Amino acid sequence: MKAMVLTQPGAGLVPADRETPPALPGELLIKVRACGVCRTDLHIAAGELTGAKLPIVPGHEIVGVVEQVGDGVAGFAIGDRVGVPWLGYSCDECRFCRERRENLCRGARFTGYQLDGGYAEYAVADSRYAFKLPAGYGDAEAAPLLCAGLIGYRSYRMAGDPGRIGLYGFGAAAHIIAQVAVHDTREVYAFTSPGDTAAQQFALGLGAVWAGASTEPPPRPLDAAIIFAPVGALVPEALSRVGPAGVVVCAGIHMSDIPSFPYALLWEERVVRSVANLTRQDATEFLALAGRVRIKTHVVEYPLSDANRALQDLGGGRIQGAAVLIP
Ligand SMILES: [Zn+2]
Ligand SMILES: [Zn+2]
Repeated sequence: MKAMVLTQPGAGLVPADRETPPALPGELLIKVRACGVCRTDLHIAAGELTGAKLPIVPGHEIVGVVEQVGDGVAGFAIGDRVGVPWLGYSCDECRFCRERRENLCRGARFTGYQLDGGYAEYAVADSRYAFKLPAGYGDAEAAPLLCAGLIGYRSYRMAGDPGRIGLYGFGAAAHIIAQVAVHDTREVYAFTSPGDTAAQQFALGLGAVWAGASTEPPPRPLDAAIIFAPVGALVPEALSRVGPAGVVVCAGIHMSDIPSFPYALLWEERVVRSVANLTRQDATEFLALAGRVRIKTHVVEYPLSDANRALQDLGGGRIQGAAVLIP
């Protein structure tokens, strides 16, 4: 099978011909039809996230069709369309797993990071971490649901029940969560890099009531904000925009340092928290939601062999919505 492989962080991905892996007990072999390109892939490729198994096939927004079912797998059949997310394995034994918080599992392994992912023609997945996808989404359209959507959804849940929600960084995750928030009759305020009027227009087109620069004050104080951009300076910025008891959720796996800020910004029971990974419950809930509420994902398709170009375009802020590789 053809795959795009990271052998050395910072050196880009290289095309490789690999043996198609078999489905071992508990696993599914999946013929990949589409794989989303996530900002985390950029952090892995650049070596900002250390700990990757090398060489690694990146990609954790896999959409494909089951080609082989390993022994002991229940609930899946050859031909099923499934999605595979970032969390690809949990130990089922540690304290967090026992509490059904496998997103914090001490033995967790992640797709496209410690487990070969979807930048390839085939991928194997632990059947506990494969999910059937709602009908009504094309393969490329469904791919961003698997991380931008899922981890976006977990971040959104952690934001509580805000009437007015701010989204900092209007990329793949925000464009999905904005639609969910509008559906839930919340007012969405979109914050982008200063001068990125294209992203601001994009946000308004998806139902945001206001869009502006991340340095600008919104017209009304927010009840909550989610920071999708990997920029630590946005933490005090967002805190200054939420009212008492406001929640600021940091959704990314990697963020630059947070500058020091006066305690007054946190005072009055404002909360800053991070969100890590996802649980199977998040996946089941969000994919059911995506079945009921037709989310319009905007995707830019690239052939698999153009993975490096897709990563560069994402890093350069040239993608509206989500980049998706098509093997
Ligand atoms: Zn991701
Ligand atoms: Zn565990």
